[in-house]
Amino acid sequence: MAEHLKSKSITRLAIANRGEVAVRIIRACEELGIETVLLHSEPDTGTRAYRMATKKICIGPAPTSESYLNIQANIQGAIAGGAQAVHPGFGFLSENADFAEACEKAGLIFVGPSAKSIRILGDKVSCKELAKRLGLPLVPGYEGENQEVDHLSQVAEKIGFPVIVKAAAGGGGRGMKVLNSRAECRELIESAQRESLSAFGSSKVFIEKYLNRAKHIEFQVFGDATGRVIHLYDRECSVQRRHQKIIEEATSPSLTPELRRKMGEVAVQIAQAAQYKGAGTVEFLLQDDEFYLLEVNTRLQVEHPVTEEVLGVDLVKAQIMTAMGEPVFTDVNSLTLSPRGHSIECRLYAENPYLGGVPSTGLLGLVEFPEGPGRRFEYGFEEGDTITSYYDPMISKVIVWDETRLRAIQKMIRVLKDTVIFGVHTNIPYLIEILSHPEFISGTMTTRFIEKNFSNPLSAPDLSALEKAAGLAALAKIGGSASVSVNSSAATEKSPWQAAWRGI
Ligand code: ADP
Repeated sequence: MAEHLKSKSITRLAIANRGEVAVRIIRACEELGIETVLLHSEPDTGTRAYRMATKKICIGPAPTSESYLNIQANIQGAIAGGAQAVHPGFGFLSENADFAEACEKAGLIFVGPSAKSIRILGDKVSCKELAKRLGLPLVPGYEGENQEVDHLSQVAEKIGFPVIVKAAAGGGGRGMKVLNSRAECRELIESAQRESLSAFGSSKVFIEKYLNRAKHIEFQVFGDATGRVIHLYDRECSVQRRHQKIIEEATSPSLTPELRRKMGEVAVQIAQAAQYKGAGTVEFLLQDDEFYLLEVNTRLQVEHPVTEEVLGVDLVKAQIMTAMGEPVFTDVNSLTLSPRGHSIECRLYAENPYLGGVPSTGLLGLVEFPEGPGRRFEYGFEEGDTITSYYDPMISKVIVWDETRLRAIQKMIRVLKDTVIFGVHTNIPYLIEILSHPEFISGTMTTRFIEKNFSNPLSAPDLSALEKAAGLAALAKIGGSASVSVNSSAATEKSPWQAAWRGI
C-alpha cells in the first residue's frame, strides 16, 4: 500500500438512514466483513434493514427532525453501538457538513467527503461561485444577497422569461418555481421564499434562466484516498415529475463521444478543485448541444446502481474502502474504464397512478420480484411490512441491464409486468406507460417529458375476468380479509372488487 494511504480499520459501521439504501449499505458491509448498527426511528422496526443489521439502536420517534435529521441522536447512537464509522446514505443528513464535522469531532469516520468539501460543493450558491472561478459553463442567473422581491423581479426580467426560482439551501426538487412573466413574479417568488424557509430553514432563493428543452445528464465522480479523482461515466435522468427523477439510465443516449469527454472533464475538474473524496455526482443540463453545470451532490446518488451495472463496480464498497484509506479502482481511470451495455432504473413508489400519484399506505400483503439475469431489486420492505405515511413512499428500485438500450427497455417492461405487490397501489402502470412512449424509446425526452405527455392521471383500466380471479387467488393466499387494507397495483379506485379488499 502506498505510504500516503493511512489504513483506518472499520469493524463496525453505523447507518444513519433507512429503507432500501440501508439494506444496500448492510450488504456492502457484509461482503467486507463489517458489522452494522442501524440507527432507526420508532416506527421503523418492521423493515428489511432492521431484520438484517447486526445491531439496531432506536434514535427517536417518527418525525424526521427528532430522529433521522437529529445530528446528536445519530452520533450518540453510533457511539453507543460501538461503531467506528457512519454511513449517511442519501437524503437526511448525507449532505450536511455539520453532521460530517460532528462525526469527526466524536472520533467517528464519516463515510463521504470532508465537511469542507461538502460546504464548498453541497451549497448551491458556493458551488456556483467555485464553478465561475474555474470558468466552467453555468446556467445564466443571479445568486446575490439582495432578496427583495422587487429586486429579484427586475433580475428575472433582465435574464429573460422563463426563469426558475430555487431555494439556495434546497434539494429534492422542492422549493422551485418557474416564472413565465413579470406578472407572476411577486406571488411565485414570495411563495418560493416561504416554502424554502419552512422546508430548509432559510428563505434565501436564487434565479436561473429556465431551459425549457433541456436534458438532465449527470456524471458519477469518485475521489480515492490518495486524492485522485476520476469520473465513472454518465447517467441520464430526464424523466422527472415535479423536478424529481423517476427513471434513470446509464449511459445517456444523448451524448456524442465529444460531449461526453468534455462534460466528464468538467465534472472531474470541479470535484478536484474541492478535494473531493468518495462518491459524488456532478449534474448538468444539456440543451441544443450546450451543457451547463447545475449542481454537485456530495453523496451517493439514488440512481447509483445503473452506473454499477454498466461498469461492474460497487460504489458503496468503494466508499467504505476509501473511508478506511484503502485503494479503490487502482487499475482503472476514466479513459480505460468503458461502459458495457445499458442499464435502466425505475423508482417504484407506493402511490395511486389513477389519482395523480397520491401516496398509498398500508400493509404489504404480497411482494414478489421476478428475479433473473440482468434484473436487480433494491428494496427496503417485504411481505408483512407496512408502508407508513411518515416517509418517502418508495418501495423498491428496479434495475435492469441488457446489451442494448432497446432490450433494456423491453426487459424493464417485462419485469414490471411480472412484479407482484399487494396491499398498496403502486406506480407500475405509470412506469410502463412512460417506458412504452415513443419519445422515451427514441431517447429524445427532455425534463418536461412528463409534464407534456402525462399531465393527467392515468385512466383506470377495466380488469379482465382473469385478472380479477388472479387477484382474488392472491388475496386468498395471504389470508386477506375485509379488515385488511389490500389492493393490487393493477386494481383501480373504480374497481368493484377492490372495494371489498379495502373493507369499505
Ligand atoms: P434539486 O437539488 O432540488 O434536485 P436541481 O438544481 O438539481 O435541484 O434541479 C432539479 C431539476 O429541476 C433538474 O434536473 C431540472 O429538471 C430542473 N431544473 C433545475 N434548474 C433548471 C433550469 N435552470 N432550467 C430548467 N430546468 C431546471
